[in-house]
Amino acid sequence: MKPDIIIIGGGMAGAAAAIAAKNKGADVTLIRKGYGSTALSSGAFDILDTSRDINSLNKRHPYRIVGQRGFSVFKEKLNNFLKDIKSEELYIDGSINKDATLVSIAGTFKDTNLCQRSICEGKLTGLKDAKILFFGIRGFAGFNPKHCCRLFKEANEKDNLLIKKIDYTLVEFPGHEGETFPSPFILAMRLDDKSAMGKFISIINKAARKNGYTHLGFPPMLGLRKTAEAVKELEASTDRKIFELLPLLPSVPGFRLQMTLNGLLNKKGINIIEGEVIKAEIRDGIIESLSLKRKNGLSELKAKNFILATGRWAGGKAIKKNGIYEPIFDLPIFEKERIAEIKDVADYLDSYVLESHPLLSVGIRVDSRLQPVNENNDVVYKNLFAAGSILGGYNYLIDQCGLGAAFLTGHLAGKYAGEGKE
Ligand SMILES: Cc1cc2nc3c(=O)[nH]c(=O)nc-3n(C[C@H](O)[C@H](O)[C@H](O)COP(=O)(O)OP(=O)(O)OC[C@H]3O[C@@H](n4cnc5c(N)ncnc54)[C@H](O)[C@@H]3O)c2cc1C
Repeated sequence: MKPDIIIIGGGMAGAAAAIAAKNKGADVTLIRKGYGSTALSSGAFDILDTSRDINSLNKRHPYRIVGQRGFSVFKEKLNNFLKDIKSEELYIDGSINKDATLVSIAGTFKDTNLCQRSICEGKLTGLKDAKILFFGIRGFAGFNPKHCCRLFKEANEKDNLLIKKIDYTLVEFPGHEGETFPSPFILAMRLDDKSAMGKFISIINKAARKNGYTHLGFPPMLGLRKTAEAVKELEASTDRKIFELLPLLPSVPGFRLQMTLNGLLNKKGINIIEGEVIKAEIRDGIIESLSLKRKNGLSELKAKNFILATGRWAGGKAIKKNGIYEPIFDLPIFEKERIAEIKDVADYLDSYVLESHPLLSVGIRVDSRLQPVNENNDVVYKNLFAAGSILGGYNYLIDQCGLGAAFLTGHLAGKYAGEGKE
């Protein structure tokens, strides 16, 4: 039987769209070829730099496109979503109206709005008078506690953070002494095992007892699926506040978020298909079906409405040496107000300047109901909606709104595509 809605993409935007459409009573199928930026992200939700008004954003920014009406549902829908993911054992703290400054494993600072519970005790505002001990793991080169400590000390002095003590130590990973760990995922997965966690806790306990430490800081590796449990046990047994630093790549917290979304989609009864959409069959401005490439061959899938949530570089926009294009529906890609005329992508990469890098904000253009439009602002296909970082007109690094914009546009696209199903 053909579903009411097919969503292409299983990151934050696709997941939010699927849940919203399902809540409208639609029969939803989500197709994904793999994981994208959501799984790579730090897992901390950037929603918006709270010193900024949405009207100060570029007029093509998704928050402005959906308008005050669309933006006004953000808080309520995000709170419902956070409750949902809590039921999957991922705890996220913070607020859409408040920035938190967090420290990464490289010792750099990042402002964000919400973060995973295992990370949030490391917010700078909570570290006044703290005595922190950072733990490095012998054989894990992904975190250099000495370097992180030095940068943290410098910031403490320069920005008068009033942290009382910042130290580091190196410990062996129990049962694997002398080994090297190329990825934090190996450590995280091992700590999901109760007995490994027990041994790890006793090592940490021993090191943390001295010097009256109040906080213990770790690279992001405290479990992949059992992090809440791990942090709780560590806190109870050491009687110290525990926090993970923000990751660089690869990101254990980003993967935790993706795993949680997957669990939630299954729980909500959303049909998930692993495969790659390679093209669409279109007649008279209406999408009739998609061609899907799977391990066992090609198939065709029909639906009433479609939502494109294929991400920025995860497949949403393909780069060829001579340009950028949207590979499934051949939607126009915009650079600022015009259709992008990127002749040679190498030119942009040569002159990389974060502040003005055009490749970070090129993308498709949508109307206020999140339907892709052409240069005359006419809807391109009557039954197509789009969400997430495939949209152009914003640079999530500078506007600080990566997962936030993906969530809001995903939610609204799912709602609009599912209208009439209540
Ligand atoms: C390294 C990195 C770090 C980041 N850190 C942060 C952060 O700390 N905080 C923050 O808020 N934001 C961060 N962002 C931005 C944020 O992650 C993204 O804006 C957001 O995750 C985009 O979600 P999305 O659903 O649009 O796309 P994605 O998560 O990329 O999902 C795209 C999906 O589409 C699927 N797909 C693509 N093409 C096809 C196809 N043809 N057929 C089937 N499926 C397809 C992919 O497999 C994937 O499932 C970061 C981004 C990156 C790259």
